Amino acid sequence: PALKPMRTDGQAEQTGEKFNLRLIPEERHSSLSCFYPLSWQLIGRGRYGAVFRGSLNERCVAAKLFGSANRQNYVNERSIYCVPLLQQHDNIARFLTANERTTADGRPEFLIIMEYYPHGCLSHYLSLHTVDWLTCCRMTHGVTRGLAFLHTELHRGDQHKPAVAHRDLTSRNVLVRADLSCVLADFGLSMRLTGPRPCRPGDDDTMAISEVGTVRYMSPEVLGGALNLRDCESALKQVDVYALGLLYWESFRRCSDLFPGEAVPEYQLAFQAELGNHPSFEDMQSLVVREKHRPRFPEAWKENSLLLRSLKDTMEDCWDQDAEARLTAQCAEERLYELTLTQVTNSHAPDMNPNTSLKQRAQ
Ligand code: ADP
Ligand code: MG
Ligand code: MG
Repeated sequence: PALKPMRTDGQAEQTGEKFNLRLIPEERHSSLSCFYPLSWQLIGRGRYGAVFRGSLNERCVAAKLFGSANRQNYVNERSIYCVPLLQQHDNIARFLTANERTTADGRPEFLIIMEYYPHGCLSHYLSLHTVDWLTCCRMTHGVTRGLAFLHTELHRGDQHKPAVAHRDLTSRNVLVRADLSCVLADFGLSMRLTGPRPCRPGDDDTMAISEVGTVRYMSPEVLGGALNLRDCESALKQVDVYALGLLYWESFRRCSDLFPGEAVPEYQLAFQAELGNHPSFEDMQSLVVREKHRPRFPEAWKENSLLLRSLKDTMEDCWDQDAEARLTAQCAEERLYELTLTQVTNSHAPDMNPNTSLKQRAQ
């Protein structure tokens, strides 16, 4: 199949916007033609793409393949990866190159080539492994750090990074490195919130603004059609933070140190106990909007030690029914950082002594 390399002049065709893209040399593109994803190993499948593992110039890479029906998703994901400064952050997935080509029967298809993350997504990792306190704090802190960076508008020299909302934050869209650090991935639905083309209410795609994401992780205002489009920037950041709270719950439920002397519960997705594997939009509406239900904390977390209280407060402050009352990602990052610094006692359980302040333990 013929390969058409991505434009290398740093211009995105559809917007005319300039990218500060670190370009991959031309010969690297052509080496892609040696591979056809069918011979690659399938490692993941999401709503929009199938992801394969393969090698490129002797380096192990992941290739996300989009069919022609998902072109818009591909174009968007590629353009987000090219947002200035994004690729310099440690908690954002590494993008290598993108390609368009034609299948044997003449249909276009699209490839995003990225670094391969051997543990796959966070959800998969947590379903196979429990994690100790420090590891769990570092993983969730990394996700939060990535989100806080994504949400921040930056000017560095002549580079401008707009604030970006992820809009599909889930434990399946976070990838895990070999050293268990985490990165945000799957920017197919992400959106620039500031800069030359920020989102505006009344745009043709306003519907899309309020109705994307994975139902399980949709905030009450998205489910209820009450997203505040007058302040789109804050509203979409608040939607991301809601999902972050659910991701914390899924992660800390697999933290062995939070279940001293008892078995760690099996991994569960948020609301899996209540609604099973395929919740409908209506199910989610009635549970999250009408009943205002949130994931239950395990019995083992009943004790209100300073540490457990702080952890539960952080989750509750992320998934608050009132979007404006939620933490910002920056604030959540500080909270997680504090938790990361807390000592683990000899019993391998975090210090649950309510008389020890977090600050003391951080020393
Ligand atoms: P979709 O937009 O279709 O949801 P994703 O980008 O989320 O696609 O990828 C789907 C799944 O493939 C992920 O949940 C993850 O399990 C796996 N995956 C994606 N990218 C990688 C990667 N670079 N390394 C390892 N696994 C990956
Ligand atoms: Mg995904
Ligand atoms: Mg996606």
